[in-house]
Amino acid sequence: MTSGNPFEIAQRQLDDCARILDLDPGVHAILRQPMREMHLALPVRMDDGSVQVFPAYRVQYNDAKGPTKGGIRFHPEETIDTVRALAAWMTWKCALLDLPLGGGKGGVICNPKSLSRNELERLSRAYARAFAPFIGPDVDVPAPDVYTNPQIMAWMMDEYSKVLHKNAFGVLTGKPLCVGGSAGRGDATARGGLITIREAAGILGLDLSRARIAIQGYGNAGYYAAALARSEFGSTIVAVSDSRGGVYHPTGIDPDVALAHKQATGSVAGLPGAQPIANGDLLELDVDVLIPAALEQVITGENAGRVKARILAELANGPTTPEADEILDANGVHVIPDFLCNAGGVTVSYFEMVQNNAMFYWEEGEVHQRLDQRMTLAYHRVLEAAQRYGVTMRQAAYAVAVSTVAEAMQLRGWV
Ligand code: NAD
Repeated sequence: MTSGNPFEIAQRQLDDCARILDLDPGVHAILRQPMREMHLALPVRMDDGSVQVFPAYRVQYNDAKGPTKGGIRFHPEETIDTVRALAAWMTWKCALLDLPLGGGKGGVICNPKSLSRNELERLSRAYARAFAPFIGPDVDVPAPDVYTNPQIMAWMMDEYSKVLHKNAFGVLTGKPLCVGGSAGRGDATARGGLITIREAAGILGLDLSRARIAIQGYGNAGYYAAALARSEFGSTIVAVSDSRGGVYHPTGIDPDVALAHKQATGSVAGLPGAQPIANGDLLELDVDVLIPAALEQVITGENAGRVKARILAELANGPTTPEADEILDANGVHVIPDFLCNAGGVTVSYFEMVQNNAMFYWEEGEVHQRLDQRMTLAYHRVLEAAQRYGVTMRQAAYAVAVSTVAEAMQLRGWV
């Protein structure tokens, strides 16, 4: 999945922040490691009667600000270091958005594309059963991530509820609406990212109705980013891609036609009327906004110098390496760092937890308005810190988030 070790990158980013903030050494030492991590083996009965054992992880990185929160990823190349990195980034993301939550993450090494629906359900239930003693609304609250979805969340919530002998909707978020989901959760990550792009465009004087946008990854984050950029801003989506390839059309791709093609064929590749484009070439297109919305470390020291976009909006987690960051900064690319850009998902997940607790559900418009308020505020907190410290947007996001977690740790007497 990745060329470098993502957790080492996360640690380097934290070390950099510790220097900028002159962070207390005790706080720094605690924040360099996950607070707790679990490695379990999940036996699953396959359709042919055999038993397959899937390695599964849950990392609870830091809970100074509240219960840990973070998605579960099903991926054949999942590693514990990816889960650790993603759990660290969740910690910073929740702190940056000022949510009363810590950071966590989970993963299973599996190839969901090769599993039948019944096998996927048994695997999802096995995960919820095995981790049931270690998760819960006050402890650690999972959610969807790459190759997990609302249906999987519904199975997991149901399994956890059976273990507890009571309905426990609040155990995880990203559920379907009729079993405790929140209105507005489906497109929340992309919607939140677009709010940060709107704010950045305002600062840079970029007219989004004339903007050309390229998007890598066409799942939950990527598809909704394409659809909303077109419907909300009138932008032109010139390229999209997924794991099997990409397509380019200079006058624009209709996001819903691309989605229908992907649903029919398994990929956006081969979309009629569009030209094929390799995933790597998509990143180097002459566009106004580039949105990586797939996996980690796609913009590196090798290709960062060829990124032509004015705004790099990181909907994916960890798409940019530290070497690339330096080049992008020198070239004046405005980077909206991942744990700011993609924080809309966890923000609406937090709203889902609040609604589950209250047993009272909000209208979609209320979710959108509250999301907009929080994302706009977070973007400007980061921009202001970037100007105050004279650092990049990523370093500024770290400074805001880490000092918030550090304050919570100090107030709780951990250091
Ligand atoms: P998803 O499973 O819905 O979609 C992933 C997409 O990436 C698919 O279209 C897949 O084909 C594509 N992809 C996989 N490997 C690729 C490759 N090598 N090159 C190009 N495309 C590739 O996942 P998602 O939920 O959209 O998550 C995408 C990214 O956004 C991840 O980094 C995830 O951590 C991040 N994210 C998602 C959410 C959320 O709420 N869904 C929240 C925050 C961050």
